[in-house]
Amino acid sequence: MEQRWVFINGKYVKKEEASVSIFDHGFLYGDGVFEGIRVYEGNVFRLREHLERLYDSARSILLEIPYTIDELEEAVVDTVRKNELSNAYIRLIVSRGVGELSLDPAQCSDPQVIIIADQVTMFPQERYEKGLNIVTVPTRRNVPDALNPKIKSLNYLNNILVKIEANRAGVGEALMLNHDGYVAEGSGDNIFIVKRGVLFTPPGYVGALDGITRQAIIDLCNRLSYEVKQEPFTLHDVFTADECFLTGTAAEVIAVVDVDGRTIGEGKPGPITNHLLEEFRKLVTVDGTRVDQKTVSPAG
Ligand code: PMP
Repeated sequence: MEQRWVFINGKYVKKEEASVSIFDHGFLYGDGVFEGIRVYEGNVFRLREHLERLYDSARSILLEIPYTIDELEEAVVDTVRKNELSNAYIRLIVSRGVGELSLDPAQCSDPQVIIIADQVTMFPQERYEKGLNIVTVPTRRNVPDALNPKIKSLNYLNNILVKIEANRAGVGEALMLNHDGYVAEGSGDNIFIVKRGVLFTPPGYVGALDGITRQAIIDLCNRLSYEVKQEPFTLHDVFTADECFLTGTAAEVIAVVDVDGRTIGEGKPGPITNHLLEEFRKLVTVDGTRVDQKTVSPAG
């Protein structure tokens, strides 16, 4: 097993020795923000977009990241290089840092910045070929005026409850509705449906993360001349869709073939889903920041 190095506040620490304080408010309260990022053949996919979302999340919770966005971009690329990985999953975490037992963040003086680059773990290839069965769970998405789902915070309990409910139902992913009953997103991915050739994905205000993969799919739809609408929809629209798929950094683009016991379309990944997955897999190796030269090269 090769040695893995974790970036902690500007220093590289062996994976086995990497640790944070039990008084870190990230640990005590989920007080912090994070990103999950993929590297494909030496290309950090849409790194700049991930960093912008991280800084937006941090700004929203009044957390000051002690690096400029350019410095953090360099640090991510350097961590991938240091670990000699050309395909990887990166976890970038900024926690409020060490404080008192009291929840008051004013006691925390130094945010902790951690970058982990490791091997990718995702759905087996068979799932991309056959599609996923999913269910809707009772847990609703956080309301935007409580903890806004656009903030990718370390407080993932809402999503974890959904994952527990998915596990108990024996499925790989589950769907959350928002407080009004509109479809929001999965525990760790955004949702798209296809009806009569038109794609639909819930708009941000329904209460979902602004997924980087979701945006990449919208961009691909525009380039490939598929009509895509950001509109609220209900479970009825999902049940009667011709195709359905989930998007996420870990999940990429994965078809959903059964929702709450209703077969979607023909019960196998549909042609638009397959086409978008194919195009997405081409895009991920070129649209982003190269680890070997660190140049940002948006795909045309
Ligand atoms: N929604 C949630 C709740 C997530 O955790 C994720 C994964 N980051 C997504 C959607 C998909 O976002 P992205 O495509 O940026 O990974």
